[in-house]
Amino acid sequence: MSSVKNDLYILAGAIQDATGPPARPGAIHWRRGQIIASGSPEAVPCPGGAIVIERPSHLILPGLVNAHAHLDLTSIGPIPYEGDFIEWIEMVMQRRPSGREAIEASVRLGIERSLAGGTAIIGDIAGVGSTVPVEMLRADGRLLGVSFVEFFGLGSRQQQAIEAMERLCAAHPFDSDERVQLSLQPHAPYSAGPEVYRAAARLCAARGVAPATHLAETQAEIEFARRATGPFAEFLRRIGKWDGSIEPLGAHPIEALWQIFKEPAHWLVAHVNYADNVQMARLALTGSTVAHCPRATAYFGHEPHHYQEALANRMPFALGTDSIINLDRADRISILDEMALLHCRDRLGPNVLLEIATVGGARALGLDHRLVTLDAGPCAGLIGVEFDPNDPADALVQVLHDPGPIEWVARA
Ligand SMILES: [Zn+2]
Repeated sequence: MSSVKNDLYILAGAIQDATGPPARPGAIHWRRGQIIASGSPEAVPCPGGAIVIERPSHLILPGLVNAHAHLDLTSIGPIPYEGDFIEWIEMVMQRRPSGREAIEASVRLGIERSLAGGTAIIGDIAGVGSTVPVEMLRADGRLLGVSFVEFFGLGSRQQQAIEAMERLCAAHPFDSDERVQLSLQPHAPYSAGPEVYRAAARLCAARGVAPATHLAETQAEIEFARRATGPFAEFLRRIGKWDGSIEPLGAHPIEALWQIFKEPAHWLVAHVNYADNVQMARLALTGSTVAHCPRATAYFGHEPHHYQEALANRMPFALGTDSIINLDRADRISILDEMALLHCRDRLGPNVLLEIATVGGARALGLDHRLVTLDAGPCAGLIGVEFDPNDPADALVQVLHDPGPIEWVARA
C-alpha cells in the first residue's frame, strides 16, 4: 500500500496527554498529521512498512499551547526588571522593533524560539495595529493559532480605535482555512476605553473568534479603573494621551467590564493578578478564559496569583509566557518552563498542568482541543522530552523538575 511509507511508529519510554492515562512505555501510530492510534505497545502494534522512531528515554507529549505571547518583542531579549512598571512600559515602547523589516525579524525569531519551546498553537499579541505578525505566522505555516492585533484608545480617542478595528476586520475577512486567525485586543483598561472593548466584542463575535486583553495586571491599573488617578494617569499626561474626556470606570476592571465580557464573544484575558475569588468567579461566569503567565507574574513581583482557587472552581484556564523580555532564558519561549515553575514552586499537579498547557489553551483560542491530545484524529504535533525510564517517579514529574531540550518527533 502506498500509504504505508507515510506511516510513523513512535515507540517511547512514555506517552501522555491531558485526556487519558499515560502509557509507559507507549506507542503512537502517526500518518500525515493524524494520530491513527496511541497507547501501550501491546495495544498499538507496529504496522508493516512503517518508519520506526525509537525514543526509550523520552516522554512524548502533544505540542503545547502558548495562549499569550508577544513574538514581535523577541528581538529585545530578556531584560531584568528594575521595579517600576511604568518605566518598564516606556523601555518597551523605546525598544519595540518598528518598521516592517525589524518586526519581521523579531517575529521570525519568536517563531523559532516558540518551536524550540514545543509550541504547536499560539495566541500572539501583535503590537499596535500591525498585521505583519499574522502575515509572518501564516507564511511560515508551522504554528496554528490566533494573532490578536492590539489597539489603544481612551476617552475621545476611542472612536479612532473602533474605526481602525472595523477597517482591519473588513480588510481581512474570516477564513476558516487559515492556520492563524486574526482577532482583536484592546490593550488594557488603562489604555483602551469601554467603547473599544464593546466594539472588539461585537466585531469578534461576528467573526466567531475570541478577543483578548490584558486585565487586572497591576494595582495601578485597578486604581486607574476605579478613579482615573495614579501612575497610569500621570503617565498618560506625560506622553500627551490624557484629555478631559477620560472618565474612570468607577470599579475594579472585572466589575466595570463584566457586562461587556458577558456578550457572546468569549474573551481571553491575560494575567488577572489582582482579582479576589469573587471577581474571578464573576469573570468565569462570562465564559472568559484566564491566560496566566506565571514567570511574568513572578518577574514583576506581583502578589501570589489566585489561580489555584480559580482552577478549583473549574474556571477555564490557559498558560502564556508573555514576552521574552520577562523570561529567564533566551533560547526558548516555552510553556513547559511555565509548567515547571508552577509544579516546583506551588506543587501544582502534572495532570492539571498538562490540561491548562494543552486543551485549556486550544479551547480558549477557539481550536479543536483534540489537536493537542493523543486521541485518534488530526494532531498539531508531538514533542519529546528526556526522562529517566529507570526512575520509578512519574515521567512528567521528572520532566517538570528538569525540563531539558524539546524535540519535535512528529509535526502536522
Ligand atoms: Zn502581554
